[in-house]
Amino acid sequence: MGVVGRTRPVPDPHQFELFGLVAEPVIPAAEPEPTQFTSRRGPKHKPQGLVYDLQSCFDVINEVMFKRELRQPVIRWSRNRWRYTLGLCDVEKRVITINSALDDARIPEMVVAGVMHHEMLHLYFGITEGPNGGRRFHTPEFRAAERLFPAYVTVEDWLRDNWPLRGRPARKPRPSTGGFLSYLSMMHGGVSTAAAE
Ligand SMILES: [Zn+2]
Repeated sequence: MGVVGRTRPVPDPHQFELFGLVAEPVIPAAEPEPTQFTSRRGPKHKPQGLVYDLQSCFDVINEVMFKRELRQPVIRWSRNRWRYTLGLCDVEKRVITINSALDDARIPEMVVAGVMHHEMLHLYFGITEGPNGGRRFHTPEFRAAERLFPAYVTVEDWLRDNWPLRGRPARKPRPSTGGFLSYLSMMHGGVSTAAAE
């Protein structure tokens, strides 16, 4: 399905690269607008998962890390669970797809948030042209911004030590309060829905 870097080995922690990028369009041009996105592509192909809600994750990170500058993209869980790739961002079509294997209560909320932050940075920075005319996604500016995520090091460490998870997924919903995102939102002034509940 046109995924770059899916099985790429991890050379060292500084080059940690489990995030993939969509090389080809994954949805047809006639795809509905984000607000109209429904379960047409199957129950998993939408932002509300069994454990985590990607829309509220996006909302909190957009507010705290991007000053609400990011326009709403299409956000969805992948229909199938991917083996390695954590998330994909189609920058041109503005589609963020997060691996539904992360919709698992064994995955810390901050990890889902960290993956979302990474994909949101792709929307923020867009595609940069490299010295040889190639497309560059993970520029030094991108990497510097990535490190601004409050739990960046913890998330990288957790992924290095635990990902991919084996065994049965834990599908029970998490409470929307008391987690990483509600803490992040609270520290930022508690304006988001997560802190209001
Ligand atoms: Zn990336």
